Amino acid sequence: MTNVMCPECAAQIEIGGDVVAGEIVQCPECGVELEVLSTAPLTVDLAPEVEEDWGE
Ligand SMILES: [Zn+2]
Repeated sequence: MTNVMCPECAAQIEIGGDVVAGEIVQCPECGVELEVLSTAPLTVDLAPEVEEDWGE
C-alpha cells in the first residue's frame, strides 16, 4: 500500500501495491479520476477527460 497526494484536493490516497502505469484510480475525497503515470516512484496526475464521441 502506498500513499500519494491527490493533485486536486491534496488528500492522501492509499493505492494498492498492484497498480500498473496507466491505471485510473479515483480520489475518495473529491472524486476526481487520477491516472497512474508511474509506479516507481508512484506518481499520479489528473486523468484526461474522456469524451463520449470517439468518432472520426
Ligand atoms: Zn482529491
